[in-house]
Amino acid sequence: MHLYEQTAFELSRMLNSREVSSVEVVRSFLERIDEVDPHLKAFINYTPNQALETAGEVDSKRIGGEKLPALAGVPIAVKDNISTMGLQTTCASRILENYVPPFDATVISAIKKAKMPILGKTNLDEFAMGSSTENSAFFPTHNPWNLERVPGGSSGGSVVAVAAGMAPLALGSDTGGSIRQPAAMCGMTGLRPTYGRVSRYGLIAFASSLDQIGPVSLTALDGALLMNLIAGYDPLDSTSLSDAVPDYSARLEPDLNNLRIGVIRYDQGDGFDPEVTAAVYKAASLLEEYGARVGELTLPLTDYGLSAYYLIAPSEASSNLGRYDGVRYGFSVDADSIEAMFSRTRGEGFGPEVKRRIMIGTYALSAGYYDAYYLKAMKVRTMIRSDYEEAFKKYDLLLGAASPTPAFRLGEKIEDPLQMYLSDVCNITDALAGVPSLAVPAGLHSSGLPVGLQLTARPLKEKLLFKTARFFEEHRKQVPLRPELNFLEGRGR
Ligand code: GLN
Repeated sequence: MHLYEQTAFELSRMLNSREVSSVEVVRSFLERIDEVDPHLKAFINYTPNQALETAGEVDSKRIGGEKLPALAGVPIAVKDNISTMGLQTTCASRILENYVPPFDATVISAIKKAKMPILGKTNLDEFAMGSSTENSAFFPTHNPWNLERVPGGSSGGSVVAVAAGMAPLALGSDTGGSIRQPAAMCGMTGLRPTYGRVSRYGLIAFASSLDQIGPVSLTALDGALLMNLIAGYDPLDSTSLSDAVPDYSARLEPDLNNLRIGVIRYDQGDGFDPEVTAAVYKAASLLEEYGARVGELTLPLTDYGLSAYYLIAPSEASSNLGRYDGVRYGFSVDADSIEAMFSRTRGEGFGPEVKRRIMIGTYALSAGYYDAYYLKAMKVRTMIRSDYEEAFKKYDLLLGAASPTPAFRLGEKIEDPLQMYLSDVCNITDALAGVPSLAVPAGLHSSGLPVGLQLTARPLKEKLLFKTARFFEEHRKQVPLRPELNFLEGRGR
C-alpha cells in the first residue's frame, strides 16, 4: 500500500513509531498530486516547498526526541477561502486572484501549531457560492469516481483532494451544505460543526450567520482528530462558543443501545433518486438491528428552508462582498471616475453567480422589500430552529440523505440556478438551525457513484455523529474507501 493511500490516523501511527518520516509521507502525496491533479484539478495552488519544510522540521524534532502533537507531520489541504499568511488566498475569484493575506485564519494557526504540512489551496465555487465547483473563476474540479461528473460543491477541491489520495485530510467550509454535499458525491466523510464551534476568523465571509469551517476525511476517526485541533473558543470570532471541547477521537466505539433515530421523510417529488432513499432506509434498518430505536419524521419547513436560505445567504453576501471595491484588495480596473472604477472592478472581478447573489441580496434588503423578503426569511429561520428543537425532544439523531442524487454531470445544472440550488435541499435546514451535521458514505449507486447519508445531532453533539459514522464504516467493508482512478489505466493506479 502506498503512503498516500493511508488514513491520517494510520500515518500518524507510522510517524510516531518512526516507520516513516514526514518528508517521505509528504513526498508520496506530492507525487500523487503530480500524477492525478492534472486530470482532477482539485488545487488552485500547490505549496510543496512549504510542506516539505514543515515535514523536515517535524522529522528533526522527532529524531531529537521531542514530544509532538498527534497529527504532526501528517499533511493537509486547505480550501482557498481560508486565509493563509503569505500565501495567495483567492476564493476562486478574479477579484482576489492576487490577494496574499497578512495573517493566518485561526484554524491555520492551529494546524501550523500542530505541525501539519500544508500541501496547497483547493478549488471551490467562487466565494463558496455553488454546489458543483463549476463556479470557480479558474476551472472546474472533476469527480474522481467519474471525470464527467461534478464533485459537488462548494468544497469540491478539498473533497477531491482526499478522495483521490492527494491529501489525507482537508479543511472545507459549509454555509449551506458545502462540506456535506460534495463529501456525499465523492464518498467521503465531512462534518459541518455546530455554528460557533470552529472559529470563523480568517474564513473569507460569504454569509456570516451560516459559515462554518469543518474537516473532510476518509474516516470518522480522521475527522475527529482534525476537530480536536480546530474546535474551541476564539476571542477573534464574536460568535465563537466557549463550551469545553471534548476529545473527539477518544472512545469512538458506537453504542446504539437506546439511541433514538428519526429518519427524515422527504416528498418523493423533491427529486430524490430512489436508490438514495433506499440507502437511507437500509441504514435505518441496520441501526435498528443493532439496538437503536428508529422512527420517522418530517421537517415540514424544508421547502421554505431553501427559499429562506437563498434570501438570507445572498443578503449577508451582498453586505460582506461590499468591501471588494478595487481599493482595498488587489484586483482593480482603472477608470476616469471613482464610481466607474468601483463598477468596472466589480463588473470584471466577480463571476455571474456572485453577481446574482449580490443582486438578490441587495434587493431583499432594500427599503420596501426588507419586510417582505428578508424579515420573512428570518422568521422562517426561527420556525426551522423550533422544528429542530421539537425533533430533538423525540430523537437523538436525525438520519437522511446528504444529497438527493449522486453526482450530476458537469454542465448539467450550470445554466439553471434553481436546479443547482435544489441540490442542497438536504443540507440547508441544518445550517439555518446551526446544528452539527455529518455526511458519511453509504455505498455505491448502480451508476458506480457514491451515495451519502447525513446524520444531524443537537448542538455540540459532534462526537455522537462521529461515533455513528464509525458504526456505518464498520458495516461497509465491501465498499472501497476510495475510487479506483480508471483514467490512470496502464500507468498503475
Ligand atoms: N450550495 C450552497 C450555496 O450555493 C451552499 C454553499 C456553501 O455551503 N458554501 O449557497
